[in-house]
Amino acid sequence: MTPVYDRVALIGLGLIASSMFHAIRRAGLADEVTGYTRTQATRDTARRIGLCDRVCDSAAEAVAGADLVVLCVPVGAMGAVAAEIAPHLAPGATLSDVGSVKRAVIDAVGPHVPGGVHFVPAHPLAGTEHSGPESGFAELFDNRWCLLVPPPGTAPEPVARLRAFWEALGSHVETMEPDHHDLVLAVTSHAPHLIAYTMVGVADDLGRVTDSEVIKYSAAGFRDFTRIAASDPTMWRDVFLTNKDATLEILGRFTEELFALQRAIRTGDGDHLFDYFTRTREIRRGIIEAGQDTDAPDFGRASAQRGPEPDPAGRGDG
Ligand code: NAP
Repeated sequence: MTPVYDRVALIGLGLIASSMFHAIRRAGLADEVTGYTRTQATRDTARRIGLCDRVCDSAAEAVAGADLVVLCVPVGAMGAVAAEIAPHLAPGATLSDVGSVKRAVIDAVGPHVPGGVHFVPAHPLAGTEHSGPESGFAELFDNRWCLLVPPPGTAPEPVARLRAFWEALGSHVETMEPDHHDLVLAVTSHAPHLIAYTMVGVADDLGRVTDSEVIKYSAAGFRDFTRIAASDPTMWRDVFLTNKDATLEILGRFTEELFALQRAIRTGDGDHLFDYFTRTREIRRGIIEAGQDTDAPDFGRASAQRGPEPDPAGRGDG
C-alpha cells in the first residue's frame, strides 16, 4: 500500500501506540515511525523489541518533521504533552490522539495547537485489559470503529487523510461531535467498566468467598468482569475524571433501572424480569449481527486456556 504519511510520531508507547505501530508496518502506511515515552525503562523496552523505527529521547526529537503526530498517553496527560511538543510541530502536520474521552482532550490540547497545524482528535474503539509496549498487536483495530472528532472549522483534507490512515489500520471510521461521543462511550464503555470494577470489588469485600469459591467457581459472567476490571488504573481514573457528566448521567439511569429490577425480584414480578431480559437479549443479537462480536459459546474462555496472549474475541475498548 502507498504510505499515507511520510513520518508518523507516536507519543506514549503503550497498548494503543504499539498496536498502531504493528498495524502501520503491516499495511506499509508510513516511511518512518518515531516514538517517545516519558520513562527510560519504557524506551529501553521499546528499543529492545524493535517498536518504532526510531525511539527518541525527547518528544521534540520524535515529532520533528513528522506529518502525523498521535498522542497515545492517558487523557489527563494530553494537555501537558501537547504543550511540550507544540513548538516543535512541523507546519502543515496533523496532530491527533487516541484518548477515550474527547471533550476534555479538545479543551486541554486545542489551546496549544500552533497555527498551520491541523488538530483532528480520534478514538479507536479497540483495546484489551493489557497495557505497555509489549501488549500491542497488529490486528487490534481490525473491523473495529475509529471515531474522528474534528473541531468545527477543521480543513477537510487532513480529516480525509486521517480517515484513510485508520481505514488502512483495519478500522471502520466515522466522524462524531465530541459531547455526543462522550455520552455514547459513557453508555457503551465507561459505565460498564465502572460496574465491572464495582462487582469485582464487592466480591473482594466478601473476603472469605474470594479466598476460595469466587475464584474457584468463577464462571463466565464474573470472569468477564475480572478481565475488564484488570484494565489500567491510570487510564480509567482519567476517563472517569474527564467524562464526569456523561458517566454520572448514565450511572443515574442505571441505578433507577437496578432499583426497578430489585423491586421486581422482591415482589416476585416475573413478567417484568422476563420482558427486561428479552429486550436485552435482542441488543446482544444486534451486536453480533453488526459483526462487533461472535456468538461462540466459549466467549472469554479461549484466552484463559491459551495463556496471556491477546484474544480477539475477548477484546474490550476504552
Ligand atoms: P498504556 O498501555 O498504559 O500506555 C500509556 C502510555 O502513556 C505509556 O507510554 C506511558 O509512559 C505514557 N504515560 C502514562 N502517564 C503519562 C503521563 N502522566 N505523561 C506522559 N506520558 C504518560 O495505555 P494505552 O492503553 O495505550 O492508552 C493510551 C490512550 O489510549 C489513553 O488515552 C486511553 O484512554 C486510550 N485508549 C485506550 C484503550 C484501551 O482499551 N486500552 C482503547 C482506546 C483508547 P511510560 O510507560 O513511559 O510511563
